[in-house]
Amino acid sequence: MQNLQHPAASAQPLPTTTTPADLLSEAQMLVASAWSTLLSEAVTKPGLILQAYNAFHSYSVGNQLLAIVQLGARGIPPAPINTYPGWLSKGRQVKKGEKALVLCQPISFKDKADPDQRHLGFMYKARWFALSQTEGEDMPPIQIPEWSKLDALFELDVEQVPFELSDGNVQGYARSREVAINPLAQLPHKTLFHELGHVVLGHTAEMEFADTEATPRNLREVEAESVALLCCESLGLDGAEYARGYIQNWLQGEVIPDESARRIFRATDRILKAGAPVAAEGN
Ligand SMILES: [Zn+2]
Repeated sequence: MQNLQHPAASAQPLPTTTTPADLLSEAQMLVASAWSTLLSEAVTKPGLILQAYNAFHSYSVGNQLLAIVQLGARGIPPAPINTYPGWLSKGRQVKKGEKALVLCQPISFKDKADPDQRHLGFMYKARWFALSQTEGEDMPPIQIPEWSKLDALFELDVEQVPFELSDGNVQGYARSREVAINPLAQLPHKTLFHELGHVVLGHTAEMEFADTEATPRNLREVEAESVALLCCESLGLDGAEYARGYIQNWLQGEVIPDESARRIFRATDRILKAGAPVAAEGN
């Protein structure tokens, strides 16, 4: 339905759905799995996440990366994005012939066997345009909300408890819905994001985590550290470099599975949005 309003719709209908593979071929990255590729882009390119968050903070982290990769492939600098009706409501028109950006949108659909049941799924849709693809009224500068630890802990239903271990190598730990950070931790905020990552990723429902400086190389640690990297870099905080080194070191010869990458994006989103709620404009 959104295509009816698109300026180019009558001449040449846009595809309403596309797959991650289509999207990546546009970005000339021919790979099998899109989410893990987006995550490696984020891990290997310092500054990409910060740029993406600054331009598209109201969108999910996965969509922020999808948007910035596509804009980069077209030589368009990072700029706010919106749908065709979204731009109209802000007094701007999409220029003729502009090609929409593809983002991933949650959808709900009926169960074939039981019409009363609905399932959540995802679809890739070409519906978004960057500011420079539009013309019209001037736009006010973007306001990025401050991230608040207290708000985040409250929203996530996580409690920060006093650190009770005597092992000075332990930076922090997480158990059930509690996190503890060593008062002498090298990067306390990075450790906080890492421990919150364990809780939100569901790891602590399974076991207890104590993180030493040389944590074992396992996928749970990489998932939590990836969440810490994405959070630190989105908010422009120290620690992304350390996390990047840790993950790159782990990645030698290994790939973060697509399902893990997706969980990392989801957990990061929850933590960032819990501490800095945004108007429900993005996805
Ligand atoms: Zn850990």
